[in-house]
Amino acid sequence: MGFADLHIHSMYSYDGTASISAILKYVADNTDLNVIAITDHDSMEGVPEALDLAPYYNLEVIPGCEVSSRDGHVLCLFIERPIPPGLSLLETVLMAGNQGGICIAAHPLAKAVNSLTFDTIRRVLKHPVASKILIGVEAFNGGLVYTRGNSSVQQESRTLPLAQLGNSDAHILPMIGQGSSYYHGYSSTDLRNSILNHTTIPRKGNGLSGSAVFTSYIPRFVFRKLGWVSWNESPEKPITFKQINKLTSLNAMPQYLHS
Ligand SMILES: [Zn+2]
Ligand SMILES: [Zn+2]
Repeated sequence: MGFADLHIHSMYSYDGTASISAILKYVADNTDLNVIAITDHDSMEGVPEALDLAPYYNLEVIPGCEVSSRDGHVLCLFIERPIPPGLSLLETVLMAGNQGGICIAAHPLAKAVNSLTFDTIRRVLKHPVASKILIGVEAFNGGLVYTRGNSSVQQESRTLPLAQLGNSDAHILPMIGQGSSYYHGYSSTDLRNSILNHTTIPRKGNGLSGSAVFTSYIPRFVFRKLGWVSWNESPEKPITFKQINKLTSLNAMPQYLHS
């Protein structure tokens, strides 16, 4: 059996606070995850590095992206190129399918961020092609601002003909794995089959305590605004903080901007 966290943000998200290598090291040293996905907001800039480094950390990485569809955020996994934001959920899902990918509805009904409603998900599932691509829903999202509504989201998610998944939506290292999914097997192929067969089981993490929000989350977020991220030089070295090139920070903005 394996565990996967398929919703992790890196410094290539405007609000992500860790480098790719720091994420991989954290996962290897502190979690039991076999497979992760790097899913930055409308960017796949960190994916090539993650794929290159994953074997050094004994992990598998699924290329992914959290796409800001007009109808709400959706995770696109096993894709090769980012999908432009601002399209409808149906258009986004079909574009992911054209690349051989699958989609997971991220944090349905979550407040404060653009989130899918269950009605929108149901409408897209009536499309014969899209229903074979949008095959999972985040029944549990460990993100700080989403956690409270999770029990009702979990109940309503069960009414959908979709794989039930848990993810962390981590923007800081200590959140990684605070939401994950059990699946049959170990590899990313096993995981994909488990999602297809609806046999994944969400696993809830404890999340951050109230005090940890002040000691971990807020300081990292402030550092990120100043250009600093959690950094890792190699599997043997400890994770430190490093100031990143301003250009890198700019490149981390969404690759497709609305005119
Ligand atoms: Zn989101
Ligand atoms: Zn996210």
